[in-house]
Amino acid sequence: MLNLTYTYRLKPTHQQSQTYEAWRETARRVWNFALAERKDWYQSRSCRIDACSLKSEYVISADAPRPTFASQCKALTQARKSNPDLKAAHSQMLQQVLRRVEKAFIGMWETGRGFPRFKKQGRMRSLLFPQLGINPIQGNKVKLPGVGWVKMLMSRPIPDGFALKQAQVVKRASGWYVMLTLQADINVPHVMPHGQAVGIDLGLKSFLATSTGEQIVRPRFFVELQRKLRLLQQRASHKVKGSNNWRKAQAKVARLHEHIHDSRSYFHFKLAHQLCDGVGMIFAEDLNVIAWAKGMFSKHTLDAGFGEFFSILEWVCWKRGVYFAKVNPNGTSQTCPNCNHHTGKKELSDRIHHCSECKYTTDRDVAAAQIVMQRGLAAVGHTVKMLGEGLSNSSLLTQESPFF
Ligand SMILES: [Zn+2]
Repeated sequence: MLNLTYTYRLKPTHQQSQTYEAWRETARRVWNFALAERKDWYQSRSCRIDACSLKSEYVISADAPRPTFASQCKALTQARKSNPDLKAAHSQMLQQVLRRVEKAFIGMWETGRGFPRFKKQGRMRSLLFPQLGINPIQGNKVKLPGVGWVKMLMSRPIPDGFALKQAQVVKRASGWYVMLTLQADINVPHVMPHGQAVGIDLGLKSFLATSTGEQIVRPRFFVELQRKLRLLQQRASHKVKGSNNWRKAQAKVARLHEHIHDSRSYFHFKLAHQLCDGVGMIFAEDLNVIAWAKGMFSKHTLDAGFGEFFSILEWVCWKRGVYFAKVNPNGTSQTCPNCNHHTGKKELSDRIHHCSECKYTTDRDVAAAQIVMQRGLAAVGHTVKMLGEGLSNSSLLTQESPFF
């Protein structure tokens, strides 16, 4: 089974977009209502034992059942009978909102973060339709619940042999989009380890470093865009809330956000393809482990962009037939990639790896990337050569390091 998600720009008529605007608002209210119901239930129960009767009496009776996806769906079906807004909106789409609330709660338990947030007006950006009719795409039109045939820009063709599983209609600053999830009933060939290997380490200074000595810097235009964003946000905050000028300023901020997101993902795709060039295997640190050990290893510069980059990299590797695997990132900066000598913990300020045993010297992140590669090779059963035996030595000489 193979799933793909393709995004297309929609060109809805005025009436079609009015319908979806109304549904977005209904979906937002359903989200807030379902969230409030769950939140109240939890808060009525969470009081310290010794303070219970003083501080937090049960607002909800003690034996009221915990709200679940099923119970909230049932309540929704009931409410649809009397509420015209709920009735007008697509029922499966509204159920998906309840499912998202449920997922947000599970996510909260798993990550230990706070409660999911209530959504302000306009913040419910997408409508998820888990099912579409028969032959929902014809020519450059897609048939969507409630609005019928909508024109879309066919920026790329739908691949043969794929069936349309679900559609998510998204409102962005630049307009309406539809994300189509396509599914094909084929076996995904598993890429086997082969060819040249490269290890990558998330940089403390640069975006990432490779075992071949490359350091990928964050593109400078991001810094400029961030500055521009702050400026626009500041300007927007001086406007009278709700006024026309405020709305215009908000729209500018939203458009820039979208532009930054698009540029970042363009950079990620380009870099992923670049890494795949000429190699058969890519090894990277396991981000989940890093998040868990964040405090210990002080990778405080980890930003959310890395997670997104890794999923893009995994996908590009698969498409290009490159083997991709994650390795344990613990202690990658404590071993010499040249002789395996344990060099001890480096301080964050130590930019250079210098081995007291074999005198191997290189950038700290590059050394870590070389360890990542060696761990990856060991994991797939390849003989691991130390750098001293000739692996990647030639490319090491080309890097810019004051020690060469
Ligand atoms: Zn050494």
